[in-house]
Amino acid sequence: MRLFECGTLVPGCQWHTRADEDAEVVRRAVEHLRTVHGEEIIRENMVENIKARIRDENGAAAA
Ligand SMILES: [Zn+2]
Repeated sequence: MRLFECGTLVPGCQWHTRADEDAEVVRRAVEHLRTVHGEEIIRENMVENIKARIRDENGAAAA
């Protein structure tokens, strides 16, 4: 599973999401940023920022 924690991008936010694919994690994260943090316009660098912070969850189990 791939994991994104919003707190890595927005300090103090406890929201996180996980999915099998990066694309799904990004989709959910963008939706979260839009609805919760009021990011009406998701710029390309925002997507890059999200992607850069996605990490493997339970890397040992996935190996
Ligand atoms: Zn958040």
